[in-house]
Amino acid sequence: MAEQPILTVEGLTAAYGAVTALNKVNMTVPRGGICAVLGANGAGKTTLLRTLSGLKRAEAGRVLLEGADITRIPAERHVHHGLVHVPEGGGVIVELTVEENLRLGGLWRAGRRERAARMAEVVELFPPLRERLSRPAATLSGGERQMLAIGRALMAGPRVLLLDEPSLGLAPLVTRQIMDMLLQLRADRDLTVVLVEQNARSALSITDHGFVLNQGEVVMEDSSRRLLADDRMRHAYLGF
Ligand code: ATP
Repeated sequence: MAEQPILTVEGLTAAYGAVTALNKVNMTVPRGGICAVLGANGAGKTTLLRTLSGLKRAEAGRVLLEGADITRIPAERHVHHGLVHVPEGGGVIVELTVEENLRLGGLWRAGRRERAARMAEVVELFPPLRERLSRPAATLSGGERQMLAIGRALMAGPRVLLLDEPSLGLAPLVTRQIMDMLLQLRADRDLTVVLVEQNARSALSITDHGFVLNQGEVVMEDSSRRLLADDRMRHAYLGF
């Protein structure tokens, strides 16, 4: 029997007033690995993540996490179900230190020992954070802030991590570092990452599977390898 997908999206529709931003989106995300959500500006990528994590109300459709309907639960409850969203820009609290930001991510978890173990894992994954634990997040570079945002999300021990444009505004070398770190996360079979990226080429180079959105609809989905090789699709929707 095929393994149950970690995330199933059925007919998901969302709107801003009269503007339909997501139109009957269907997606099946297999457990483990990283999948990319790609598409031009305004295609609906951010709206998709916001609707998956309950920040935006679905007009219609369902979101199932391991078969459980999470469509209408409040945004703050999603972490209890194992779904954590890192918004565009990361949303770290710049007045707090790196360590305090990380602690916040693990707050709702009960065991102190478990939180300490997670913190050790996170700083191993993101070595620049280890050296800066006691510094205010305001002093971090753009790439380090992104690492902190992802690290804070990992502190909650998610089963599904939604990442909105982690490379936005970063230099190519720093983008590569972030992508390499995401590749390390891919080895963790208990974690599934949904990665929204404007930079389709670099996203497809590290993901297993990709969904292409256009005007709020999934117009194509395939293995990342095949999407990269599909010239017509790349020219039409991904701009490279
Ligand atoms: P980008 O890469 O530019 O962030 P995106 O693919 O993430 O684009 P969305 O931000 O989800 O796309 O936008 C989808 C559609 O919804 C667009 O037509 C956009 O103009 C519209 N939209 C997004 N946010 C709002 C808002 N707060 N109010 C009104 N319309 C919005």
